[in-house]
Amino acid sequence: MTTVSSSGRDGAAVVVGASMAGLLAARVLAERFGRVTVLDSDTLPEDAVPRGGVPQSAHAHGLLAAGLRGLEELFPGLIDELVARGGLVADVQEQFRWVNDGYTIARGRSGMQGILISRPLLEREVRRRTLADPRIELFDRVDVRGLVSDDHGRVRGVAAVDRRDPADRESRRWDADLVVDASGRTSRAPDWLAALGAEPPEEERVEVDVAYSTRWYRREPGQLDGDRGIVIAATPGNPRAGFLLAQEGDRWICALGGYLGDRPPIDPDGFDAYAATLPSPMLHEVIASAEPITEPRRFRFPASVRRRYERLARPPEGLLVTGDAVCSFDPVYGQGMTVACLEALALRDVLRRGVDGPALPRAFWRAIEPVVDVPWEIAVGGDLRIPGVRGPLDRRTRVVNGYIGRVHRAAALDPAVGTAFLRVAHLEAPPASLMAPTVMAHVLVGSRRWPSGTTRLIPVPRSPVDSRSPV
Ligand SMILES: Cc1cc2nc3c(=O)[nH]c(=O)nc-3n(C[C@H](O)[C@H](O)[C@H](O)COP(=O)(O)OP(=O)(O)OC[C@H]3O[C@@H](n4cnc5c(N)ncnc54)[C@H](O)[C@@H]3O)c2cc1C
Repeated sequence: MTTVSSSGRDGAAVVVGASMAGLLAARVLAERFGRVTVLDSDTLPEDAVPRGGVPQSAHAHGLLAAGLRGLEELFPGLIDELVARGGLVADVQEQFRWVNDGYTIARGRSGMQGILISRPLLEREVRRRTLADPRIELFDRVDVRGLVSDDHGRVRGVAAVDRRDPADRESRRWDADLVVDASGRTSRAPDWLAALGAEPPEEERVEVDVAYSTRWYRREPGQLDGDRGIVIAATPGNPRAGFLLAQEGDRWICALGGYLGDRPPIDPDGFDAYAATLPSPMLHEVIASAEPITEPRRFRFPASVRRRYERLARPPEGLLVTGDAVCSFDPVYGQGMTVACLEALALRDVLRRGVDGPALPRAFWRAIEPVVDVPWEIAVGGDLRIPGVRGPLDRRTRVVNGYIGRVHRAAALDPAVGTAFLRVAHLEAPPASLMAPTVMAHVLVGSRRWPSGTTRLIPVPRSPVDSRSPV
């Protein structure tokens, strides 16, 4: 093993993974470390195109309002730059249609801003801004294989195979005062820790077996009355979801999602027929007359996974983990990139407090636990409404889920309830805010006033069109 030194005046950090979580971590580490080296096993493209190391990048990605706000905080001026590249900003309630339990949230002005932009373009722009900092360097085609530790078990760097030179496939060592693993949901950090004789984290899983089929369409002016998107959530009676998001280049990205082995078809007719069975006809009405520009393609997501690093009795010194490597959420809630951003902000705050050395890992885990708790509660609680999804369904979740049904009904009539719900869904307010007396009063009045029989709920068809085929 040869050594590539990356130590600098203020120490060195190595980040494993140059996707959203890794880039955002690098951005904040550069406030504290003299050199930050980001390593990624993938070949990073110049163009804003999906890439193999992030296979989900070919699918619809919405950024929650808290995520957009966080990105702008880390990279001032980024929103304007994204708009200059074709991204579209929108008030998440006024210019968007949200359908929950078949009820469309009443239109209103939420004051929360969202951006509609493809995942590859967003990542490329974040990468460009991150690398504008001269303390940050990035090497792609470097495959990290393990951690390097000293005699006391403190992590001192990573071992990696550098594939940039085909003649030299030797494992090398990148020294670091701090290693941050941001290698996504397939992170090997638990195995790497075990290989060092350290305790790996407990893992919680909620099996959802979600499948996405995604297709792109040309976006014409006037479609959807100029609104920027539709999100149709799966309902307990019809667990199928649909997303239609405006994207740069006058395009729509349309994703259909099914649970527990219900796979939206990838043949064009089947895709179209499946869209017609969603809990609202709104999305199908647009794509039925829109011009498709790609064939549908599929992605499977077996389970939401949370790794409980914060519960380790002795968190390893010199190692932090962030992004999907800590918690990978059912994608239908659109939370992953926002959580990665909120984790980066939490890391920044810990570092700014001057926390260092052995105290850093525990302070970091303590800081990100609440950041992950809320979206995890939202995603797991929501998924447990779907018949057949198994998980920790305690009394509290049952009560909250019963109440959420009322929130959805009330939100269809009362924009204020819609705003309150969207603030929680966009991670701008805690779930408990929906229980505030003023909100509850609106929910109770609104949900009772909803005239029965006026929704357009569509029951799931008895034999779903070609939807249980293997991937
Ligand atoms: C179908 C789908 C749809 C989604 N939709 C949304 C959405 O609408 N909104 C949202 O916010 N989130 C969404 N997500 C989640 C989102 O994609 C992730 O949360 C986000 O990419 C942040 O993940 P990450 O940076 O932690 O990991 P990833 O994006 O998975 O990136 C991991 C990186 O690590 C690199 N890597 C892996 N192993 C190694 C190694 N050994 N050595 C070096 N490099 C390595 C990879 O090449 C990659 O670049 C979705 C996910 C899926 C699956």
